[in-house]
Formats: sequence, C-alpha cells, structure tokens
Amino acid sequence: MKRLDSTVFQMLHQKLVTSLGTAKELHLSSPLAYTDSALEVLLATIITQATSDRNALKAWLRFKETYTSPGQALEKDESLLLEVLRPAGLEHQKSRKFREVLAAVRERLGEYSLDKISGNPEEAWDFLCSLPGVGPKTAACTMLFGLGHPAFPVDTHIQRIAVRMGWAPATSKVEAIQTLLQQSIPQQLHQDLHILLLNLGRSYCRPRQRKCDVCPVGTHCRKDY
Ligand code: SF4
Repeated sequence: MKRLDSTVFQMLHQKLVTSLGTAKELHLSSPLAYTDSALEVLLATIITQATSDRNALKAWLRFKETYTSPGQALEKDESLLLEVLRPAGLEHQKSRKFREVLAAVRERLGEYSLDKISGNPEEAWDFLCSLPGVGPKTAACTMLFGLGHPAFPVDTHIQRIAVRMGWAPATSKVEAIQTLLQQSIPQQLHQDLHILLLNLGRSYCRPRQRKCDVCPVGTHCRKDY
C-alpha cells in the first residue's frame, strides 16, 4: 500500500483532540495506563480482548492488587487467577494465555521480564509475535506502550476507520494496515493517534449507525463501506 501524507495526520490529531479531549485523558480508562513494565503492558492488553475498557480495567486493577509481580500469576494457583480475571470475561481463555505467555517468557529469557529484548525493535517484535496467543495487535501495543518502539496497533475500530477513510482497501489484513500507518504517521503521534482513533471508532465511527454528519474528521473521509 502507498504511504500516506504525514501532514494529514497532524491535522486529524488536532481535530480529534478538540472534539474528544486529549489522548492522555482518554487513556485513563484503559488498563494500559496502570502498568509498570512492558510485560505488564502485554498482559493488560490480553485482558482488553473482547471486553469493555471498564471491565478490563476492573480485572487489571484486581490483578495488580493480588500479585506483587506478574510471575506470581503463574506460580500461584490458577483458581486465583481465574477469580482475578473474571470481571473481564473469557477468564478461562485469558488465564490460559497469561500462563502460557509467562511460562514462555521465563523459559526463553530466564526471568519474568522483557528487559532483555527491549533494546532492539526487530528482536522485540519477533520475540513478541512468537509468544503463544500473541497476535499483531497485542505485539504492537506492547512495542508502543511498553517498550517505546515505533508501532501502530490496529484493532477492529481502527481497521474500520482506515477502510472508511479510504486509507486502505476493505480486503486489507490488520498487519498490512499496521505497517502502513506505522510508516505514514509521524512517530511522535503514534500513541496519541492510536488512542484518539480508537475513541473515534467508539463515539462516531461505529460499526452500525455511524455519525458521519457530526464526525470531527468527516471532511477528510471518503465514508467508504
Ligand atoms: S465521516 Fe463517517 S465514516 Fe468517516 S470516520 Fe467519521 S463516522 Fe467514520
């Protein structure tokens, strides 16, 4: 896909902040705002899958209260982890993912930490994508919010917006849109625009009954599909 004009994203950023508020304020509803390490970002991102921010945050704060370090989630009984994750839903699936990820990190890096792969973006990306149950969006969230490397995570909201805005064909895979946006959006806007577009998808660009007539970025949108 062709790289997009980076100046458009500066303008969209301004319009979205004016309409939705700052990314920093919006991010406070996400569990990722309450993490202390890249490994915690990875686990908190898993919690957010297929649930609301509200329920994910509840489960994540319970996790932080229950365990003094992420590794304890593997070392202590699984029944406790199931109880902790219950508010986020799919607790059996998420508990299994947590424990598989923690076991793989400990086995391959010798500790419950991603510090050893944090210095090299390519190595970090390959490592994250090789972990059990970790897809491109979770890996990109960990890169961006946990390790501070360039990445543009694309979830279903951002995928939908990218297609409707005319940035990517409807048949594009998530990985291709991530690569396109990572290369097109100035790096200093990666975190902010990820958060702002996510919230645009929730408030205006919904799957159904989208609000194109009052959308803050409507004049820049092809309104496809
Ligand atoms: S104008 Fe409509 S299609 Fe385009 S981003 Fe806004 S809500 Fe979505």
